[in-house]
Parts: sequence; structure tokens; C-alpha cells
Amino acid sequence: MPALDEQRSREERAARNQALFRDVNEGVKELNEGFNFVTRKGSWICECANHTCADRLGLSTEEYEAVREGGSRFLVAPGDEHVWFDVEQVVERHGGYWIVEMTGHAGELAEHTDPRSDHHIPVRSYDGSLHVV
Ligand SMILES: [Zn+2]
Repeated sequence: MPALDEQRSREERAARNQALFRDVNEGVKELNEGFNFVTRKGSWICECANHTCADRLGLSTEEYEAVREGGSRFLVAPGDEHVWFDVEQVVERHGGYWIVEMTGHAGELAEHTDPRSDHHIPVRSYDGSLHVV
């Protein structure tokens, strides 16, 4: 069933891309904390599935932490072009950023690759595909 396969690989691509950006932001967080930006706005990258997107978002560490409460939640710039509506939905709209939540298969993959989860698995693999065990 090609249509199903296509949807599945799209879900995997979205989950992989967004999980990679999440990893980057987790590194940014440590950097921000090192400079004691906890109460000020730090600079985060958009975690949308478009790998060419380089939008920067201003959030305090507290606001960022609120996004990370869910393993399938991601931080994106405000705008429909940062949301893949077939794999995720917008759950919160703020002035400078939106929070999306992945659903279905993509949501499961996002949970499994969450660095804060107990059963975290690495995002990357040699052939670029995402394997969840
Ligand atoms: Zn984006």
C-alpha cells in the first residue's frame, strides 16, 4: 500500500528532523544557563520538520522547559509553514512561538527519541533512517 508507506516515511522524516533540532536546543539550554539567562530570553532554533528552516525564537528557559514537558511536543516559529498538519497539531500559540504536538506514529517516535525519557534511543543511525527498538 504505497499511500500508507508514503505517509509513514513522512512521519518518520518529521520525527527525525524535529528530534535533531530538539537535541540542538538541549545544548543551547546548557549554554544559556551558563550565561545565567534563566530569567532573560534565550535564543532557540525552530524545531519544525523543514530541515532548511533556521528561524530563531526568543524564549526564557522557563518557557522552554514548559515545551519539554511532553516528549512529543516541539517548539516552532509562529506560522503554518512551520507545521506539518498531517503529523502534528498546534497545541499552544504564543506571541513569538508555537508549540506543536506530534500524533500517531510520529508522536511515538518523538517520545522514543526524547533525551529526557528513561528509554531514550539515539536519533541518528548510519543510513539516516530512524530505528525504534
Ligand atoms: Zn521552522
